[in-house]
Amino acid sequence: MTNNEKLAQLLFPDITKTPEDLEKLYPPRNLPEGARVTRFAPSPTGYLHMGGFFGALVDILTAESTGGVSFLRIEDTDKKREVEDGVSAIIKGFDYFGVNFTEGVTGFGTEKGEYGPYTQSQRVEIYQTVAKSLVEKGFAYPCFCSADELTALREKQETDGALIKGYFGKYAKCRDMSFEEQERRINAGESYVLRLRSQGDENKRIAFDDVIKGKIEMPENTIDEVLLKSDGIPTYHFAHVCDDHFMRTTHVIRGEEWISSVPKHIELFRVCGYKLPKFAHTPQVLKIDEETGDKRKLSKRKDPEAAVGYFIEEGIPKESVLEYLLTLINSNFEDWRRANPKEDISKFPFNLKKMSVSGCLFDLVKLNDVSKNVISIMSAKQVYENVAAWAKDFDAEFYNVFTANPEYSTAVLNIDRESPKPRKDIAKWSEVRDFVSYFYNEFYTPDVKFDEKLNKEDIKAILEKYLEVYDPADEKDVWFAKIKDMCEPLGFTPNVKEYKKTPEAFKGHVGDVSGVIRIAVTSRSNTPDLCAIMQLLGKDEVTARINNAISTL
Ligand code: GLU
Repeated sequence: MTNNEKLAQLLFPDITKTPEDLEKLYPPRNLPEGARVTRFAPSPTGYLHMGGFFGALVDILTAESTGGVSFLRIEDTDKKREVEDGVSAIIKGFDYFGVNFTEGVTGFGTEKGEYGPYTQSQRVEIYQTVAKSLVEKGFAYPCFCSADELTALREKQETDGALIKGYFGKYAKCRDMSFEEQERRINAGESYVLRLRSQGDENKRIAFDDVIKGKIEMPENTIDEVLLKSDGIPTYHFAHVCDDHFMRTTHVIRGEEWISSVPKHIELFRVCGYKLPKFAHTPQVLKIDEETGDKRKLSKRKDPEAAVGYFIEEGIPKESVLEYLLTLINSNFEDWRRANPKEDISKFPFNLKKMSVSGCLFDLVKLNDVSKNVISIMSAKQVYENVAAWAKDFDAEFYNVFTANPEYSTAVLNIDRESPKPRKDIAKWSEVRDFVSYFYNEFYTPDVKFDEKLNKEDIKAILEKYLEVYDPADEKDVWFAKIKDMCEPLGFTPNVKEYKKTPEAFKGHVGDVSGVIRIAVTSRSNTPDLCAIMQLLGKDEVTARINNAISTL
């Protein structure tokens, strides 16, 4: 037995598997040529960041558009960042958006797929099996340096003016320790981490083709990176390499903050003898800071919209968010949408190479506009169901009233909808209560404020005349003809153009007349089709509201 083999046995006496066993357990996937395997790998911090969701969408689209596989892996090796059951919030976020991975973690303690476990804390045997083989080959060694020794090393590098900082070369105290000393210290129970014995050359450079960013060149890694921490748990770098190899990931799609770590990863793939996956580093999701006007990263602390839960609470439909994110993900999405206004998003020919290279600006105002469009083409029934589902969770009082008569509420939502030019005034479900409140006596408190340019006598005359001609059975054109007929005898003109030419000749125009009725019936100056509103409210209610308005004059 060589010293390295003896050391490996000393460090990992319980590891009996070999990397070859793992190769058999997790064989290359049987997928058609060109199919891509992607993964989304969040840490379970109890919340799904919009930037993460954006990345996950890119993973799923990449896999789906190539007939491949996407999976959800939970990276819970950093216990400091973890919260109890941090997985459920992540899964809930994906569920809301109807976004599904092909395999991986599906809930707190559940998963599907043949390449698991998909939670890193359950894969320790795998990491240690690989680590053991690296020790056997001389590519890894135990480092006993204490925190104080590492601080002293950093200080020495400062005074030396070392260009590269970290544990490497002549600074790496434990790198060339004799086997006898290693054995003595391990047997004495000293704490240690396992480090890579870097083979890198500081005068050489590595280059790789990032699928999004293009060719990137950097100096080779020379740092003896930590692979396993003193508790035997891997660092992100080592876990990434082991997992993406044995889960047979073809495309590592992740945030661009990881670009600087690629030289380490390339060296790790190399010493492990694994094929390098393709890397695709996604741009950051940015926003314009309201105070400074500068672009900055979407921040969990400052921006409520950084958490996917915000969209669920506000009731911004998943369709709107997905639609908007696609405009950020692929610049040609908007053209495609114009050509295919009703097509499902899954039909969009997504292309990883068409991703923006610099940051993606996330703009809530634009999202609102997109959402108004998306909601405007939904059927009244779809809107009803979405609003009811949202209200059930977030506004019980509204839910009870709104769902008491589903037919009525659906008809309310159908005003000016399901037509070639639907109204575009709802951007989120939480706005609907206010939008429809005057249809429900439980929420309607009359607050009639008429246009100040009209005098009380004229307003009264309009309302009284209207009560005389009002017939709830009138369809819109008959109804409007009646309003027009009311104009002249009351000193108004049915013709808006005429009014604009000689305003002094009239008290107002037909819009002012219908405006008075609108305010009397709804207490609002802006509503959808008033005739339809009155048909739904019914004769008794309309008459009562108009009489009430007259009594306030
Ligand atoms: N767990 C890492 C993170 O949350 C994942 C990075 C990766 O996708 O490789 O940042």
